[in-house]
Amino acid sequence: MRVHIIGGGVAGLAAAIGCVERGVAVTLYEAAPQLGGRCRSYRHDEFGCDLDNGAHAVLANNAAVHRYLKTIGATDRLATFGRHGLPFVDVRDRATWKLHLPQGLWAKSARPPGTSAWDLICSARLLWGSANKAAHTSLNASITAVEKLWEPLCTSALNTPLIEADAALLSTVVRGMMGWSGLRSGLKLPVHSLTHTYLAPAQEWLQRHGGIVHLQSPLRDVGKSNTHVERLIFSQTEVTVQAADAVVFALPPWAPVWRQLGLNFDILALSPIVNVHFRIAPTHASRFVGLIGGLSQWLWVHDGVATVTISAADAHMNTDGDTLAKTIWTEIAPLLGDPQMPLPPVHVVKERRATIRHVPGVAAYRPAIRTIFQNVFLAGDWVNTGLPCTLESAVQAGFSAGLACLMPGLR
Ligand SMILES: Cc1cc2nc3c(=O)[nH]c(=O)nc-3n(C[C@H](O)[C@H](O)[C@H](O)COP(=O)(O)OP(=O)(O)OC[C@H]3O[C@@H](n4cnc5c(N)ncnc54)[C@H](O)[C@@H]3O)c2cc1C
Repeated sequence: MRVHIIGGGVAGLAAAIGCVERGVAVTLYEAAPQLGGRCRSYRHDEFGCDLDNGAHAVLANNAAVHRYLKTIGATDRLATFGRHGLPFVDVRDRATWKLHLPQGLWAKSARPPGTSAWDLICSARLLWGSANKAAHTSLNASITAVEKLWEPLCTSALNTPLIEADAALLSTVVRGMMGWSGLRSGLKLPVHSLTHTYLAPAQEWLQRHGGIVHLQSPLRDVGKSNTHVERLIFSQTEVTVQAADAVVFALPPWAPVWRQLGLNFDILALSPIVNVHFRIAPTHASRFVGLIGGLSQWLWVHDGVATVTISAADAHMNTDGDTLAKTIWTEIAPLLGDPQMPLPPVHVVKERRATIRHVPGVAAYRPAIRTIFQNVFLAGDWVNTGLPCTLESAVQAGFSAGLACLMPGLR
């Protein structure tokens, strides 16, 4: 038996790792010259270092991600920020605070200035948000609590603004953040780069254990019957899917190849993320800070790069990169110690299709891992894991799809 995996993002890699761990042969086909998909790094010559397409944070309770890293021997490639409270700055008046949840309920110093314990108590309905309802309808908090707490948490976790977000999904996220290994354990980001943490060790591990990885191998078409996919057609070659084999499609919802399978996910709306990288002196200490009151939402400083993230960035997609960078620089230069510091070299990454939009009712359109084809399973952050589109969702879906391939009862 062999499992053919189409797509080498973290979902495809997790599917491959899960199969190989169980002694099953895998071949992974990735269209790009490198692995990673929406979680990737690349060499930037002007910066003289590797850059990530965007800051990728995970929580300690992202169990699938941590299992993935443990298997490939990369648990030590995450750095933890904000274990003693997540630092925030209001870029308008430079007010600072640390967010601890749920300590903010009883300790003033653990919640944003201007918010009360009552604000958090009134927000408790968020914890029981129902599907198909907009999250803001479950929220009965002050404007300050919305601006300084719920909007930033919702936008960054769901990549969807609070006004549009699905209540049930936000409640899942908030419960996870409040839990023992939620926000109080800090946020975890790559020590150096996404490739160094999530991709290179996975590729090495797979190859060491007999997995085959083909880069620059886009799937163009499939040969199929009513019940099975029988052939995988690539530009240069064609692969016969044997009777005992299975195929995992770990592709994003907009991949053209879905149409060859008779599937169409165009109904899923997409949401962009912008990351702006500034080359700064490597002497700046590493830190991860939430920003309120401007364009910037998160500032991540590490290895001589200051990266600013803007999620749900629809409003900025048509602004030219230089203008965006100049505005953001005025917000972060004071935090880097010198408001007069001239604009350093900049690199702007606009990911138009960062994730799906987590609006009420969208869960009904997120597909299951099983398909109408008995030997085909789906993986990807956007399949119906019950989680927002994140690394955790992608890895969970990948592991589940890998497992499903091996369970005769599901085939
Ligand atoms: C800027 C940005 C910031 C983010 N920040 C965070 C964060 O802080 N925390 C977090 O948890 N998540 C974050 N995410 C989300 C996270 O990156 C995704 O959830 C995850 O990477 C999705 O992985 P995937 O494998 O499901 O899909 P993808 O990464 O899209 O992988 C699909 C792969 O399939 C390949 N492919 C497409 N067509 C074909 C074909 N025909 N044949 C072969 N291969 C094909 C693609 O090249 C790609 O490599 C962020 C995403 C972005 C874009």
